[in-house]
Amino acid sequence: MKPNKTALITGASRGIGKAIAWRLASEGYDLALHCRSRTDELKLAAELMENEFGTKTSLLQFDVADRVSTKISLEEYLSQFGPPYAVICNAGVTADNSFPAMLDPEWDVVLNTNLGSFYNVLHPLVMPMVSTRKPGRIVTISSVSGLIGNRGQVNYSASKAGIIGATKALAMELAKRNITVNCVAPGLIDTDMVTQEILDVALKAVPAQRVGRPEEVAATISFLLSEDASYITRQVICVNGGMF
Ligand code: NDP
Repeated sequence: MKPNKTALITGASRGIGKAIAWRLASEGYDLALHCRSRTDELKLAAELMENEFGTKTSLLQFDVADRVSTKISLEEYLSQFGPPYAVICNAGVTADNSFPAMLDPEWDVVLNTNLGSFYNVLHPLVMPMVSTRKPGRIVTISSVSGLIGNRGQVNYSASKAGIIGATKALAMELAKRNITVNCVAPGLIDTDMVTQEILDVALKAVPAQRVGRPEEVAATISFLLSEDASYITRQVICVNGGMF
């Protein structure tokens, strides 16, 4: 049955975000699909989803690291469509380097994009969501790297660990408002972010001995958005083939 609910997904043009979008479209959610640059791909996906599932979509384009343009775009969205039922903060980047060799822009872009976007995206949305007095869902995307730390990823591990702390704290603030806030921490997932070089090294650390599929992460997010997950909040759910 169509849930009559809207999910806003950041970074929906590729990889995990795209898989989340297709999964939720297939379940009857309406979608607000966001990306930074690949609007043509997103438009095409929206048309296909509309044809296949009758999905109502709206498209958003902004750099999640840019607080001002993110706020302006989300306020415009809210004035047109009202608050979404669910927000999935998925957009993220890596800029790997050993710590001694790390450049200022590598540190800044990863922290501002991955952790800065927690504030930039959720701050304009949370009060409007609370004001509806209806149940809601927030899901953030961390990483195994944020839980155990990873060589060459001091910036990325810091940003993803920060997301976990922020998620747990926001869950405390919103629990009595019926809005659950959880974090999904994927391991090694087959997207543009994972190069063959990364795979060659990291696969050895995966007990399941294979890379994960974006659809496997999307399935967990679908569950967290469901009624069945209404008593799950402030949690980190790992989707990592047993890495941690
Ligand atoms: P991809 O590189 O495949 O896709 C990244 C998405 O984020 C794209 O839609 C991209 O938009 C968007 N994006 C990136 N930077 C920005 C920005 N500054 N502003 C707005 N949008 C942005 O990544 P994945 O699908 O692999 O990763 C999705 C999430 O999962 C990330 O948070 C990542 O850290 C996390 N993750 C991924 C793992 C993996 O193994 N793949 C493992 C653990 C966590 P556009 O297409 O327009 O550039």
